[in-house]
Amino acid sequence: MELTTGIPVRKNPYSKLKEVDFNNLEFGKYVSDHMLVCDYANGSWKTAQVVPYSNLSLNPATLALHYGQTVFEGMKAFTMKDGRINIFRMEKHYGRFVQSLDRMCMAIPPKEVFIEGLMKLIEVDKAWVPSKSGEALYIRPFMYASEAKFGVKISDEYRFIIFTGPVPSLYANPIKVKVETNYVRAAKGGTGFAKCGGNYGGAYYPTKLAREQGYDQLLWTDAKENKFIEESGMMNAMFVINGKLVTPPLSDSILDGVTRDSLLTVANDLGFAAEERPVSIDELETAFKNKTITEAFGAGTAAVVAPIQAININGIDYTLPAYSNQSLHNKLKDELELIRTGVAADVHEWNCIVR
Ligand SMILES: *Cc1c(COP(=O)(O)O)cnc(C)c1O
Repeated sequence: MELTTGIPVRKNPYSKLKEVDFNNLEFGKYVSDHMLVCDYANGSWKTAQVVPYSNLSLNPATLALHYGQTVFEGMKAFTMKDGRINIFRMEKHYGRFVQSLDRMCMAIPPKEVFIEGLMKLIEVDKAWVPSKSGEALYIRPFMYASEAKFGVKISDEYRFIIFTGPVPSLYANPIKVKVETNYVRAAKGGTGFAKCGGNYGGAYYPTKLAREQGYDQLLWTDAKENKFIEESGMMNAMFVINGKLVTPPLSDSILDGVTRDSLLTVANDLGFAAEERPVSIDELETAFKNKTITEAFGAGTAAVVAPIQAININGIDYTLPAYSNQSLHNKLKDELELIRTGVAADVHEWNCIVR
C-alpha cells in the first residue's frame, strides 16, 4: 500500500480482525491490529510509526508508574452514510490533550504527528471501523513519562501512543447517581480539568462505596463547600430545568468535555435555550419538589448521553420522569448522529474525513 504521509507503517502479520464478532461488540473488548508510537528523548520527537499492536516492555523505574505523569484522550471515528470514515472533532481533542500535557509538565507531540499519525493509523485499520449506526472505533491517544530513574522529577523522556478498538452503541438504561458531599474529585488549583491518570484512580474509592449502595455513578460537588454540582467523573453533568438545558460552567476542576460542548452547540443551533451556570444541590432539590426538573444526563464520548433516572441528594432518592425519544437529550443525541454521519450539514467543521 502506498503511504500518503511520511509515517512509516509496519504491518501486523497476525491480524485479529477475523476474531471480532461485529454483531456482539462490547466496550473495551477488542483492540485493532495497529498502534501509533512516537518517542520523545533528548529534547526532540523521533519519527512516529504505525506498528503492530503489542505489549510494552517497561523498566521498573519508569517514572509514570510511580509519580503519575500520564495523560490520555478518548475520541471516536464513525462510518458516514456514504461509507467514508470520520474522526469526530479531532482538533478539539488534540487541543485538550495539549492542555492536559501542559498541566502535567509533559512534552507536547506536534500537531502533525497527532493528526497525520491518527489519520494514517485509521487508514491502516479502516476495516476495524464498525459500520452500524451508533457504533464507532474508539480512539485512545495517551502519553506517559518513560524515563527510568528513581527520585521524583519531571521526566525527560515520553512515549506517545494511539490505539483503537471497535465499540458498540451504548443504549444504556437510565442510571442512578449519588451526589457526593464527603469525598472530592478535584479542587480549585488542582488537575481536574486535565485528563491525567491520577484523577481517575483517586475517584475509585468513593465510587466503589456508592456502587455498594446501589448507585452507578457519582455526581461530584465542589471541593470548597460541597454545594455545587461539578460533573460525573467520566461524563459532564447536564439537566433540563424549567425547559432549559443547564450545565455547570467550566473551571479548573471540571473537564472540558467535547460532548458537552457539542451538545450545547447543537442545542443552540436547534433553538433550545441553554445555560452554563452554577447548579447548587439546593436548586436541584427544589426543582425536584416543584417538578421543574425534567431531565438529567451525563455527556461523554463513550455513551454520548447517559440518561439519569434517579439522583440521591443528602440520602433521599429523587426520581426523574420517564424519558421518550422526544426528550431533549435524545433530540440532541440524534442531531449529533446526523452530523457525524454526514446526513446533516457539518456547519461547525467537526468532521475530519479519513478518505
Ligand atoms: C473524558 C471526560 C469527560 C467527557 O469528555 P468527552 O470529551 O465528552 O468525552 C468528562 N469528565 C471527565 C472527568 C472526563 O475524563
